[in-house]
Order: sequence, then structure tokens, then C-alpha cells
Amino acid sequence: MTSFAELNLAEPIQKALAEEGYTTPTPIQAGAIPYLLEGRDLLGLAQTGTGKTAAFALPILDYLLRNRRPPAPKTVRVLVLAPTRELASQIDESFGAYARHMKLSHAVVFGGVGQGRQIEATRRGVDVLVAAPGRLLDLVGQGYIDLSALEVLVLDEADRMLDMGFVRDIRRIMALLPARRQTVLFSATMPQSISDLAHSLLSNPATVQVTPESSTVDRIRQAVMFVESEKKKDATLMLVESSNVVRAVVFTLMKHEANKVAEFLNKNGITAEAIHGNKSQGARERAMSGFRTGTVKVLVATDIAARGIDVDDVSHVFNYDLPNVPESYVHRIGRTARAGRDGWAVSLCDAEQRAWLKDIEKKIDKAIPVVTDHPYHSDAAQNSTMRPPVLGGGRGGGGQRGGGNGGGGRRRPGPPPSTRGSAGRRGGVRSAGHR
Ligand code: AMP
Repeated sequence: MTSFAELNLAEPIQKALAEEGYTTPTPIQAGAIPYLLEGRDLLGLAQTGTGKTAAFALPILDYLLRNRRPPAPKTVRVLVLAPTRELASQIDESFGAYARHMKLSHAVVFGGVGQGRQIEATRRGVDVLVAAPGRLLDLVGQGYIDLSALEVLVLDEADRMLDMGFVRDIRRIMALLPARRQTVLFSATMPQSISDLAHSLLSNPATVQVTPESSTVDRIRQAVMFVESEKKKDATLMLVESSNVVRAVVFTLMKHEANKVAEFLNKNGITAEAIHGNKSQGARERAMSGFRTGTVKVLVATDIAARGIDVDDVSHVFNYDLPNVPESYVHRIGRTARAGRDGWAVSLCDAEQRAWLKDIEKKIDKAIPVVTDHPYHSDAAQNSTMRPPVLGGGRGGGGQRGGGNGGGGRRRPGPPPSTRGSAGRRGGVRSAGHR
């Protein structure tokens, strides 16, 4: 196994990692960091929880250390695009933590809050800007941020960005960037829209894929209970009341259902908060921090909102609704059994969602054990041959397949790699001569 020392990261970074308690690179880090240090474009297939943030943040910091120069006013040297405010904030915090022994200017911009502090934070230029696409375009449009000197671009959770309809914003941002840059794209899944996007944005990329899924999924004890849909709230209450539940995430398909389930649990003495796209930033942050500190026992989340949940000791995942996309099942249950711990994932399956269960079992290549010994068991749900509901666009949060289309022109072969910046950089930022 590779060690951080073998990766040859600069000393101030290694010191910060030791203080963070990181001893061994995770597989995505061991795979991606050497390529990124060489200045290559990269397609990283990894989900949250694999250590993907450090996989791009560490080599970027290494690059900045070896190529020190103050950014010109309003300019950005490294841009990280992220789909949600929560993720953007987490990435920015990670940069701050890993850079604690070096000088780094960094800022984060996202919508839903005033612009004033974000304009102030970027006024003198920054080494690293983490941004949600919409607000970034607003600030660029008003002349507060200048992307023309960009050296490295990272798109994080690109599949989620496409799901959330950011494809046009991403294209607009691309048009503002210099062709000579290093580009990194991380995605948890690889639908056609992502491979199109990767094809048009990356030049001769290295691809690194980690499948934490099998190892994590193997550690998760899974079960399914067949229940009528009107009994799901009671069944969920029974589940979260079990003595071994410490922190649980309950997944619903719809935002309004998430609210209803949280309300029901609260009425029955369980502290629960709903998190989904309609909640204000403040409400989501309060819910997350309550969950982290333990004052909130249960988070009721839709798939999209759950992407921002970065808590290591979730003891249980309960699927109030099964997801309509099998991959979402793997992502959901991956919220538990993090950091080497055990975890439980229990799904409630009603008659309508019976067909989705079959798809999920096909995806994970095993049958999920059925528990019938409980007060809400329904033979009708278990034996259902109903066709599942068709989820329309407005009923979001169901982890739909990557929307939007990657579009864009085919990539032409770029010029040979060239280096830029001072000597000592292993490869430097190479020309991405396309676009
Ligand atoms: P991420 O996939 O970037 O969201 O990271 C998931 C979690 O793993 C975060 O809490 C990180 O702080 C932690 N982490 C990342 N890399 C390592 C490592 N090499 N050793 C231990 N923990 C890590």
C-alpha cells in the first residue's frame, strides 16, 4: 500500500495530513494523486466518503506551493465547481485544513446568501475558489471575478451537477476559461451524459475508478420489510426507536414526504429534521450540525440533499421509499458503515416499489434478506407484480439518471503536453489545447 510519503507531497502538506490523522492514502487518493501531480487531466469515478476531496485538493496544494505567485486582483488560479452549498463549504474547509502550514488564499461562493462578503473575499484574487455554478456566473457577469487566468479546474460530483440542471451553466463557465489548464472531473456514476462531458472537457485524461461499493456494501447488514404504503410511517417509527439506532438517515423520494415523516417522528418523541432542496441554507446547516452533535437523531432526506451528509457514524439507513434508480440504493446505504464501522440498511418496500427492489438486487448482485416477523408485514406487497410509478420531473429527489446532455463538440487531439510555471513541477499545468 502506498504511503503519503511515497506520494512525495510537499512537507507542509504532509505535516497537515499527519495532524488530521491520515496515515494511508485511500484508493482514490493513491490512484489519482500521482497523475494530478504530473499535471494530467483526470476522470475520477468515486463517490463521497472515498476521500475524493483530498484526492484533488492535495496535489493542487502541492502545485500551488511549487508555483507560488500572488493572484492578480479578482482572478482565480484554481476553481472547484460543486453542485451544492454544503459540498462547496466542505471542500473549502478541507482546503483550509490541508493548507494550514502554507499560505493559501481561498474563498467559497454560492447562492442564497448576500454577495457582499463573497465579493470582498475574492477582490484581491484567490488561489482557490470553490463555487456553485449559478452564483459564480452572477459574480463573473457583474465583473467581480475574472476567470481568464485559471490554471486548474475541478468539477466535483459532476453527475449531480448535471442532475440538477447545471449543464448550461457549466458550458458558460467553460467558455470563460483559458484553453491551457488542467481539468479534473469527479463523478460517482458514469451515465452517457458524463462520458460526453468528460470527452468534451478533458484532454487525454487518466481515469481512476474506485469501487468502494463492494467492500462497503459487504459490511452493511441489509434487510427489507414488505409493508403497505400507509403503514410506512409507523414502521419507520418502530425502526428508529430500536435500541441500537444511534444516528439514522431516512430516505424518501419526495420532499413533502420527507417533511411529513420528520413531523411524524417528532410528534412521537424522536428528534428528526428533514433536509431537502426547499430548505434554506440556515435550516440545512442547523439540521446537519444537530445531527453531527447528536441532538438530532434522525435526518429525513431526499437523495439530492443527502449528498451533503458527511457524518462518519451513521448507524442506520432506512429507506422509507426505495429509490427508482438502483445506483441510488448503493449511494444511500453507503451513508452508513463509513470509516470501517458496521452499519445497517433496512428498506421498506410497498407494492408499487416491488419492481424497483428487483432492479436493486440485480445491481448489487444479491438478494436482500426479507424480514417478515414484524407487525406491519404485508404479503400483498411481497407478492406484488404492480408496475412501479413513473416519476416525473417535478417530483425530484429520486436520484434520477443523469439529466441534461453533455453536448458540446468532440475533442480534437491536443498539442503535446507542455509545462508551465516554475521549474520543479512534475509536468506542470499542461496545455489542454481543445475547445
Ligand atoms: P470525502 O470522500 O472527500 O468526502 O472524504 C470522506 C472522509 O474521509 C472525510 O471525513 C475525510 O476527512 C476523510 N479522509 C479522507 N482521506 C483520508 C485518509 N487518507 N485517511 C483517513 N481519512 C481520510
